[in-house]
Amino acid sequence: MTKYIFITGGVCSSLGKGIAASSIGAILEAMCYKVAMQKIDPYLNVDAGTMSPYQHGEVYVTDDGAETDLDLGNYARFTDSELSKLSSITTGKVYLNVIERERRGDYLGKTVQVIPHVTSEIQRLIRSLSDKVNPDVQIVEIGGTVGDIESIPFLEAAREFSLSNKNNTIFIHLTLIPKIEVAGEYKTKPTQHSVGVLRQIGIVPDIIMTRISGTLSKEMKRKIAMFCSIAEEDVFEAPDVDSIYKLPIIYTQQGLQDKIALKLSLASNKPNLKKWEEIISIVDSKKPKISIAVVGKYIKLQDSYKSVYEALRHAAIANKVELNIMKIDSEEIEKNPENLTKVINQADGILVPGGFGSRGIEGKLAIIQIAREKKIPYFGICLGMQCMVIEYARNVLKIADANSSEFTETSNPVIHLMEDQYSIDRKGGTMRLGVYECNIKKGTLAEKIYGENIIFERHRHRYEFNNKYEDQFEKAGLIISGKYITKNLVEIVEYKDNPFGIGVQFHPEFKSKPFKPHPIFKSFIENAYKYNIEKK
Ligand code: GLN
Repeated sequence: MTKYIFITGGVCSSLGKGIAASSIGAILEAMCYKVAMQKIDPYLNVDAGTMSPYQHGEVYVTDDGAETDLDLGNYARFTDSELSKLSSITTGKVYLNVIERERRGDYLGKTVQVIPHVTSEIQRLIRSLSDKVNPDVQIVEIGGTVGDIESIPFLEAAREFSLSNKNNTIFIHLTLIPKIEVAGEYKTKPTQHSVGVLRQIGIVPDIIMTRISGTLSKEMKRKIAMFCSIAEEDVFEAPDVDSIYKLPIIYTQQGLQDKIALKLSLASNKPNLKKWEEIISIVDSKKPKISIAVVGKYIKLQDSYKSVYEALRHAAIANKVELNIMKIDSEEIEKNPENLTKVINQADGILVPGGFGSRGIEGKLAIIQIAREKKIPYFGICLGMQCMVIEYARNVLKIADANSSEFTETSNPVIHLMEDQYSIDRKGGTMRLGVYECNIKKGTLAEKIYGENIIFERHRHRYEFNNKYEDQFEKAGLIISGKYITKNLVEIVEYKDNPFGIGVQFHPEFKSKPFKPHPIFKSFIENAYKYNIEKK
C-alpha cells in the first residue's frame, strides 16, 4: 500500500520546497523504497507551457510531453521516479476536468461545488499517479504558500485525503526562520503563524523543517515545538548550502529518514548514500576552473535555464573541474560589441540554450560566429541549434538573408515551421513535445559522444531545420549527424572542422543527473577544459 507525504510551505515562497521534496525522495530511494513524485501548482494555467520563463522559470518537459513546473526537473535530478503528465496537477487541469464532466451531465443534476467536487477531483488525480506507478511512497508537493487563496482547495483535498488514508499519510511543513539583523536574532514567530494557518484548515504538520541561514538552536526547536504542538524531535533544520546535492546527506545526519519511516510505519532501512557522498567529495575538492558562457535572453531570472545550469554542473563534477557560469544577456551583446570581446576572451565554452522570439537573436549569432571561427567549444540547444544553422547559412553559405521564419519573413527560411504546425490555431500543448527517436550517423561527433546510433531525447519546439538546404549545408561542412527518420527531421548538426561544435534540436538538459551527467554536456565540458589548457 502506498504511503503519502504532503509537503507544504509557509512564511514565503522560494524556500526550496522542491529541493526539500526531492531530497526526501532521494533519501527514501536510498532506503530502497520506490518513490513517486507529484507537484501541485495552484495557478489557473492548465500546464506551464504557455507561461513565460519570467513567470515561473523554466518549463520542464517529460517523456510523454507534459510541459510542467521546473520542480519536476529537481525530482528528475534527485530521484529515479517516473515522471509523466500524472506528475503535475494544476488548478487549471482540475477545473477543466470538473467542468468537462459537468457539461457531460456526469454530476446528475447536482450543484457542482469546490467541496466536494473539486477536492474529489484533486484526490482522484493524486491517486491516479499511485495507481499507475504503484510506489511505496508518493511525495506530493503543494506549491505556493500556506495562506494563499489559491492553495485552499488543495490543502482541503489533502486533509480529506489524509482522513481516508490514516496512518499512511504525513504532512511536512517547510518554513523560514528569518534573522532580524538589527537585533541579531532569529525569529520563530512567522513559523508559528504559518502553522497556525495550516491548523485552521485542519492540518497539523507531523514534521516541521525550518529554512535557516545559521543553526537551529535547541531553544528555537523547543519554542517551535511548543507553539506548534509538535514534539521537539520533529523539528528539523533545512540549512542554506553551497551545493543542493548535499541536502540528502545533511537531512539524514539529522535522522529525518527514521522519523519519516516511524511516522509512516515503514522499516527504517539504513540509507545507502554512497553516490551522493562521492559527488560531494568532488564538489568540495580543489579543482581547475573553467568558464562557460550561457548566452540567452532570459538570463536575469535565475531559474529560466535551471536544467541547463544543473546539467553543466553535473558535467563539471564528472570532469572534476570547478565551473564558473557566465550568464550573458544576448541583448547586451547586441548593444555593445565590447561585451562580446570580453566574453570571448574569458569563455572556454559557449552554450546557447532554448528560447522563443526574435529578441536578442543577432547577439547570439554574433557570438556563435566567433565560437565557430575561433574553434571555441560550442553547444547549441534547440533555439541554440537553430541559430547555429542560421549563422552558418549567412557566413559560410553566404545566404545573407538566411533566417528562421519564427523571427521574420524571408526568402531563405533555413529554419521553418513544419507543415503540420500551419493549421494549429492555439498555443497550449501544440508544439512538438516529448520524446522522439533520433538516428545518429556513423563516424560523427554525436556517435562518439553517445556511443550508440539510436537515442531518445525530449523536444519542445515548433520550428525545424529546412531540408531544402540539407545538401548545401553538408557540402559546406555542416554535418547533419542525427535525424528523426520517420519524419525526416534534422535533430543534430555539427561543425566538421571544429573539435567541438554541436547543435541539437532537442533538450538534453532534462535528462542529466548529478551522478549521471548527460553525455553531450560531459563532452562539452571536457572539450572546454582542453580549450582552456591549450589557450594558456
Ligand atoms: N523557438 C524555437 C521553436 O519553437 C525554439 C524552441 C526552443 O528553443 N525550445 O522551434
